[in-house]
Amino acid sequence: MRKWGGLIARYGARLAISQSVEPVTLYEGDTPLIPAPRLGDAVVPGGQLFLKYEGLNPTGSFKDRGMTTAITQAVADGARSVVCASTGNTAASAAAYAARAGLKCIVLIPDGKIALGKLAGAVAYGARVIAVKGSFDDGLRMVREASERAPVALVNSVNPARLQGQKTAAWEVTEQLGQAPDWLCLPIGNAGNITAYWLGFCEDEKGLPRLLGAQAAGAAPLIQGKQIKNPETRATAIRIGNPARWQEAVSALERSNGHVLSVTDDEIFAAYHMTARLEGIFCEPSSAAGVAGLIKSVASGKVNPEGKRFVCVLTGHGLKDPDSAVDGAERPISIAPTTAAFLEVLGV
Ligand SMILES: *Cc1c(COP(=O)(O)O)cnc(C)c1O
Repeated sequence: MRKWGGLIARYGARLAISQSVEPVTLYEGDTPLIPAPRLGDAVVPGGQLFLKYEGLNPTGSFKDRGMTTAITQAVADGARSVVCASTGNTAASAAAYAARAGLKCIVLIPDGKIALGKLAGAVAYGARVIAVKGSFDDGLRMVREASERAPVALVNSVNPARLQGQKTAAWEVTEQLGQAPDWLCLPIGNAGNITAYWLGFCEDEKGLPRLLGAQAAGAAPLIQGKQIKNPETRATAIRIGNPARWQEAVSALERSNGHVLSVTDDEIFAAYHMTARLEGIFCEPSSAAGVAGLIKSVASGKVNPEGKRFVCVLTGHGLKDPDSAVDGAERPISIAPTTAAFLEVLGV
């Protein structure tokens, strides 16, 4: 059997990027589609639920799919440095792939609003991390404008090479399931991922799912129909008030006969805990927004689960955001180093 060599090796010319240089890869992609029968019983009674666990990519999020293509294209274009604005995962991914390619990487993050595991990644891979006293949207505006004036390649999902890599997730889902699911559920932040999935399903011509997109209630421009000046949510990866791929997302939702809704942080965290506790799959809070959106849509009757197959995309790994996991959780009790003390805890 051929070994996995990453997305560019696997899909080659189906990805519209330069084929003139060696791919910059960390062997991203090929993530599992995991049946989730216990969560499925609770969330989609009469239907089947699968989780596309994108947290298992090399830097812990689906961003690696788009970064192999964006950084490979940047190398082909002769770039020496790359920049991005990020709520965290794009920064960690860009930093890793830039390191792999020997490029400099500069990332702009919203001051104090990124999860620890993401900052840790960006720093570990050697990126220059700059905190902006503003939101992700401010950072994106800054890097867009700067990349027009300075010799740096922009690797946010406004870069078309990003979508080329990210669309492969749709192909994997269809291949793993044997056909496209009835519904594909995912969080929407900057709306690159939903745009890329739709592109992938359309190009594949093996069936189209209906798309279910979820935004955090405090950062829901698509639902409110207007930019959100000060987006707020504890699901920091989707704390975005002015998505770059807004129009594409709306169009994909419409064309798929899909459904977009907002979910509160409490609903997001309830879904986050259910996914970990019922299936042993730990995703980050933002990833659980898609699950929360599905729960809410079934409860409201918008989605009838009977006989249907659902895929929820778990966009990032839970360890990215350790604070969210331990916040509000019971602290471990501390006991003497004796079996007697332990037996007492066990109630024996
Ligand atoms: C980037 C990201 C999102 C949002 O994806 P968009 O393409 O910006 O809509 C959701 N969850 C996680 C974990 C992310 O890193």
